Amino acid sequence: MPTNRTGRRSHFEWLRRRYEDTEKKCPECGYVDDEGNWESQTDGQQVVYHHVCPSCRASREHTFRLGR
Ligand SMILES: [Zn+2]
Repeated sequence: MPTNRTGRRSHFEWLRRRYEDTEKKCPECGYVDDEGNWESQTDGQQVVYHHVCPSCRASREHTFRLGR
């Protein structure tokens, strides 16, 4: 991971918490994942958040572009 500086990291954390708070409910089956198992990956230009529903295995993905 080349971009692990404090500022960026906290930005990721903020986004991640936001998803953990607001996207707990699976749109496919309605299962609410209290654990909020969003995984984030970044290549330095974008961040991809990925979640797999523990109940029905539906996967969700959100992509954020970074930088200007
Ligand atoms: Zn589901």
